[in-house]
Amino acid sequence: MKLLTFKGGVHPPERKELASSRKIEVLPPPSVVKIFLANHGGAPAKPLVQEGDTVKVGQKIGEASGFISANVHASLAGVVRGIEKILHPVQEKPMEAIVIEKAEGEENWEFITPHGDFNRFSPREIVELIKEAGIVGLGGAMFPTHVKLTPPEGKTIDLLIINGAECEPYLTIDHRLMLEKPKEIARGIKILMHALGVKRAIIGIESNKPDAVESMRAACQGEPIEVAVLKTKYPQGAEKQLIYAISGRVVPAGGLPLDMGVVVQNVGTCLAVYNAVEHGIPLVERGLTVTGKGVKNTANLVVRIGTLTSTILEHVGGLTDDVDRVLFGGPMMGIAIRSLDTPILKGTSGITALTADEVKGPTPRTCIRCSRCVEACPMNLQPYLLDLLAKKRLYDQAVEQGLMDCIECGSCSYICPSGVEHVKSIKLAKKVYRALRGGGKK
Ligand code: SF4
Ligand code: SF4
Repeated sequence: MKLLTFKGGVHPPERKELASSRKIEVLPPPSVVKIFLANHGGAPAKPLVQEGDTVKVGQKIGEASGFISANVHASLAGVVRGIEKILHPVQEKPMEAIVIEKAEGEENWEFITPHGDFNRFSPREIVELIKEAGIVGLGGAMFPTHVKLTPPEGKTIDLLIINGAECEPYLTIDHRLMLEKPKEIARGIKILMHALGVKRAIIGIESNKPDAVESMRAACQGEPIEVAVLKTKYPQGAEKQLIYAISGRVVPAGGLPLDMGVVVQNVGTCLAVYNAVEHGIPLVERGLTVTGKGVKNTANLVVRIGTLTSTILEHVGGLTDDVDRVLFGGPMMGIAIRSLDTPILKGTSGITALTADEVKGPTPRTCIRCSRCVEACPMNLQPYLLDLLAKKRLYDQAVEQGLMDCIECGSCSYICPSGVEHVKSIKLAKKVYRALRGGGKK
């Protein structure tokens, strides 16, 4: 059978075997959580609590502050110890986080009220429940889900694509969820279909997870939900590449999936939607993988949002002596964290601890014009040129060459025999360009 895919991409070592057989465990509630008010793409939430307040699990502690923003909820029952400014791993600057210390004894979940069968709600009510629950894309992007479910006037959505590709090496949580929670995921898909008014959904799963393909097919039997098997290739799970592989639709440069009538949601998000809409549970916890040769034991865990990395690492026995770096996410798109006390975000799909051996690449040299980065780029860009223009601070020219279309997948850096770190310079150039444009100096 021909496997669906896209043009370009790379085949980094998958290393999924480190954690793929580990069943999902629930991490006991930690003694403290630090919940960023910026736990999503868009504007940070506004705090609703202050030092000394008592909070219960699921209580709203931060209110969305704009259309592209999301609510945040207490993930622990306890006392608010204050609002601290700590280094945000994605924004790379100190940002406000609500610190909650766990109360003694049993947890109070009285804010959680099950809603029952989703069919009693209208599409609009479902979007409202999802918004209220603070659901964001759990694949990593953290884009507020209710915004994706609210297409602008004149845009019609006819296809829902579910991302079960999990193309990022090392990470296995989506794989485990599809094996252990297939019915709940399928229910979440049906809720999303109802909210969008679409009659068709397709789950894309890479060919390296045949058991997940089987599990999801069984769970979706009799439903208008298909499972498509995708070629195992990075970045197969990137939104535009996934849409192309599954539907043949090309999202134009600068365009959005909804321009092509498509909405994409990750499998973990479907589970969160199911929990929120039918069980009334806001996004207070998520599944993640703890993996890499730099951890003593690997695991797939459900953890409370805001749990400190150190608490999670302690649970798996800690780091090895030869650990080189700890990432949020996997080795291709992950972000190196500077402190082990960094709290996990709603979009943290994994904690990957790599040894020096695992991160070793060629010593950076000059470009030899081999064009391997061009062949690998899934966005049809010329990474060597973007790198050059970025380093020369020729931002306008870089933008003309598609700088803002780069999805920061890292395929170019991975394949480059000269060790050129394109993604580093591209990310910096985007940041500078946005800052200049924001200041009116375009
Ligand atoms: S230029 Fe951007 S999109 Fe292209 S391979 Fe590099 S990181 Fe990926
Ligand atoms: S892969 Fe590296 S060496 Fe080859 S063209 Fe691209 S930047 Fe240059």
